[in-house]
Amino acid sequence: MIITRPRDWARIKRNLDDIDAKRIFIMGCGQCATVANTGGEKEILQAKAILEQQGRTVTGWAVGEVACHLGATKLAARKSIGSVEDADAVLVLACGAGVQTVADAVSKPVFPGLESAFLGNVIRHGIFEERCQMCGDCVLDETAAICPVTTCPKGLLNGPCGGMWNGNCEVLRDRECTHVRIQRRLAEQGRQRRSVLPPKDFSKKLKPGSINLRTGNAGRKGDSDE
Ligand code: SF4
Ligand code: SF4
Repeated sequence: MIITRPRDWARIKRNLDDIDAKRIFIMGCGQCATVANTGGEKEILQAKAILEQQGRTVTGWAVGEVACHLGATKLAARKSIGSVEDADAVLVLACGAGVQTVADAVSKPVFPGLESAFLGNVIRHGIFEERCQMCGDCVLDETAAICPVTTCPKGLLNGPCGGMWNGNCEVLRDRECTHVRIQRRLAEQGRQRRSVLPPKDFSKKLKPGSINLRTGNAGRKGDSDE
């Protein structure tokens, strides 16, 4: 899931002041931002209180099923069409993908209310960890399904680096070195690294990504447009 964190309210205030937005509609996200406690009903009501303290009127709010789904977001906006139309701006408590989806679904100026942090694993309720940066050229087959690109702070494919000490990471000292973990898991499974991994081909990371299951096209938006 996409992990978000609250955005600096001074910046949000500046955004709204810049267009003299007095009446605000708030849109949340029923999936990731709700699970991350950043864009569900509770956080929307907190944002509403802050906006009202600033002297603004909240014309309405909604938590769509999932903010980055265009159809679901259009539906949520349609259900609140009067309140959206009555607003000067829409504040979105969702990841950057959700913000852009809302901007595609409504005609009002749209502003982000959160910061998008990372693609996160849910370790336990309320505890998230980044395990994958979606590099497009996965090496987990070579690394006992532990991602060095993401979990080694230096992103080293082959390690450990010279700073590893007693099995712990030089940078994140309270954490075990990613490459120590990799070696241990491989050994526990009676496996070993087959080779030194070559430098990563970051051109495999397609930006902006686009997949069209209807046509079978996958690549950058524009590479494969219908
Ligand atoms: S190697 Fe790339 S795709 Fe595989 S887990 Fe790491 S960042 Fe994700
Ligand atoms: S100690 Fe290990 S995890 Fe930490 S930076 Fe060096 S190689 Fe990466």
